Amino acid sequence: MDKNKMSTPNMHIGCNVNECKYHGRDQDYCTLDKIMVVKHHDAKTVECTDCGSFEIGK
Ligand code: SF4
Repeated sequence: MDKNKMSTPNMHIGCNVNECKYHGRDQDYCTLDKIMVVKHHDAKTVECTDCGSFEIGK
């Protein structure tokens, strides 16, 4: 991943998971061009969905 690109928040993907290496730090946006949202079992509540692109820390 391009380092400069990582620091540019993607205003189309809001996210407050600041533990993730792709988080926009001072802004609550993801810095990836796209993410993959995944589900756990049958998605019946919001808790059953997750960001599949999450990676821990920097
Ligand atoms: S990869 Fe997912 S968890 Fe990480 S900053 Fe982007 S949207 Fe948030």
